[in-house]
Amino acid sequence: MPALQYTIVAHNPSAHLFQVTCTVTDWQADEIVFRLPNWIPGSYMIREFARHIVRIEAFDAEGEVALEKLDKCRWRAKKSTAQLTLRYKVYAWDLSVRAAHLDDTHGYFNGTSVFLLPEGGEDVPCELQIEAPPISVGEAWQVATSLESVAVDERGFGRYRAQNYEDLIDHPVEMGSFERFEFTACGVPHELVLSGIYRTDGERICTDLQRICEYHIQFFGEPAPFDRYVFLTMVVGDGYGGLEHRFSTSLLVSRDTLPAPGESIISDRYMEFLGLCSHEYFHAWNVKRMRPHRLATSSLDVEAHTELLWAFEGITSYYDDLALVRAGLIDKERYLGVLGRTITRVHQGPGRHVQSVAQSSFDAWTRFYKQDENAPNAIVSYYAKGSLVALALDLKLREVSEGTVTLDHLMRELWRRRDEVNGMSESAIEALASELAGQDLTAFFQLAVHGTDDLPLAALFDQVGVALLWRHAKKAAVDIAGRATPGKLPLAQGLRLRYSSPLTEVTHVLTDSAAQRAGVSAGDTLIAFDGVKASEKNVADCLARRHAGDSIELVLFRRDELQYRTLVLKAAVADHASLEVAKGQIDRVDNWLSIAAST
Ligand code: ZN
Repeated sequence: MPALQYTIVAHNPSAHLFQVTCTVTDWQADEIVFRLPNWIPGSYMIREFARHIVRIEAFDAEGEVALEKLDKCRWRAKKSTAQLTLRYKVYAWDLSVRAAHLDDTHGYFNGTSVFLLPEGGEDVPCELQIEAPPISVGEAWQVATSLESVAVDERGFGRYRAQNYEDLIDHPVEMGSFERFEFTACGVPHELVLSGIYRTDGERICTDLQRICEYHIQFFGEPAPFDRYVFLTMVVGDGYGGLEHRFSTSLLVSRDTLPAPGESIISDRYMEFLGLCSHEYFHAWNVKRMRPHRLATSSLDVEAHTELLWAFEGITSYYDDLALVRAGLIDKERYLGVLGRTITRVHQGPGRHVQSVAQSSFDAWTRFYKQDENAPNAIVSYYAKGSLVALALDLKLREVSEGTVTLDHLMRELWRRRDEVNGMSESAIEALASELAGQDLTAFFQLAVHGTDDLPLAALFDQVGVALLWRHAKKAAVDIAGRATPGKLPLAQGLRLRYSSPLTEVTHVLTDSAAQRAGVSAGDTLIAFDGVKASEKNVADCLARRHAGDSIELVLFRRDELQYRTLVLKAAVADHASLEVAKGQIDRVDNWLSIAAST
C-alpha cells in the first residue's frame, strides 16, 4: 500500500520559513511528479502558491536524487528505491485566510500553500506531523486545527491524519499562543480560537455563535455533517476576510468588531463579525458539501469556471444575516436596514446593467477578483446581487406556491439530493426550483440570473408585507456648515474620490455620469473644484449650494499634465433603498422572517 507522510515545522520564524517534508513509500513508479495547487477552494483566483517554495531537494534511500522542474508548479523526481522524500522551505508572509504566514508571534498555513502532491496519489491517506518550533520562539505555542489527531502532546504538536489530499488541504492550521473557547451546538463540539492582540469576551461570543450554529444545523436538519468545527480567528487592527472549510473556517477580523468585555448589545461592527461567522458556517453545507460539478472535479491547477457562484455565495450571503434575525440576535427592523443597504449598494453600480450574476460567476477569476478602476461600470458582485437574487427567488417561490414552498425547502432538497463527489450540474438549481414550484420558472431565472435588468423587488416584497421605498442620499442634502437645505435635491457627479491631504484622487468615474461627460478619468488628481481646493469639505459645501445644470470648473492633473474640465451638475436619482413593514402587515413579515413559518 502506498503511503504519504508530511512533516511541517516553523523552521525559521524570523525569516518566515516553514520547512516541509513529503515522503512517499511503496510507490511503484520510477518517476514521480509533484505539484502544488495554483488556487485554493473558495477563493477563485490563480495564486501560483509554488512561487513561495524557495529551496527544494529530493532523497531516496540511497541519497540525493535529481529533481527536474517541469513548469511553474511541478517537479519530477527519479528514484531507485521504494521510498522518496522531498524536503523544501516555504516562504510564508501573506497575512490572509488564503495562504500562509509565519513570524515569531504565530504561524498559520493552508495545505494548498505547503503540501506538494505526488500525482496519482490523490486518494492515498495522508499523515501529517506538526513539529514544535524552536524553543526560543515557541515555548508557549499551541496548535489549533480541525484535522483529526492521532498522537499529539498537550499543546497539540504531533501526528494528524487526513483521508486523502483533498481532506489534508481543507484543514488550515494555526500555531501560536492564542486563546481557545469551547461550546457545543446540537451536541457537536465547537471551538473559537482567537489569535492576535485584543480585549473581548470570548464566552459571550460563544453564546451568540451557538445560536447561529444551531440555527444552521437545524435548517439543513440534524445531525450536523461534521463531528467538530473550529472558528480560527486572526484579530488585527484592520482586516476582513473569511474562507470556508468542511470542518472549520479561517477568519481575519478587525479588533473593533469583537464585543468589549461587559458589553451586551450587538453593535453594528459586532453584527458584521457574527454575519461573517454565519456566512462561513453556512458554507459548510453550501459549497463545501454540495458544490458545482466544475468545482468538485477541478484539480486546482487551472481556473474552474462555473456560472453558479451567485448561488453558492449569493444564497449564503442571503442566509448569513437572515440567520441573525431568525436566531433572535437582531430584530426585524435592523434586518430590513441591512437588506436596504445591500439593495442600495447594488443599485449604485452601473455594472449591474452590463454583467449578469451568471457571467460574474463565470468570470470571477479575472474580473471580480481582479477589480480595477472600471469595476463599478463593468461588473456586478455575485455576492451582493447574488444575495438579492436569492431573496427574489425566496419571495417568488412563496408567491407562486401561495406560501407553501420557500427557498428553505429548495435548499433542503438540494442538500438531500447532493452528490458530494461529482457535484451539481450548472442547471440543477433552476430545474429543482421549477420542480418544487410546480411551474416553469425559466422566465424568472432568465431575468434574475442571466439578465441585467433590475429585479422586481418592490412587487415581490409587497406579498410578504414589506414596502420598498426609494429616497435620496441624506448626507449630500445637508450643508456641511450645519445649515440644512430642505427641499433641495442632492446632486450627483458620478465621481468617487479619495481625499488624502494634500491630494484628492479620482478612484472611479461612473458610466454616463456628469464626471464622465466632463472628461474626468479615474487616476486624475483633482486640485480645484469650483475655484477652491478640492477638499472633502469644499466639495460637499459647493454641492450643497449649487443646482442641477450649473457648471463647475475643475482643475486637475492627468499624470503630470495640468488639465481644465467643466462639470455640468446633474440631479441625483433616488437610489437609497429603505424597507418598512407595510401597514397592518406585520404577520406576513414575521412569517417570512421566522423559522417556524418555513418548516
Ligand atoms: Zn462565501
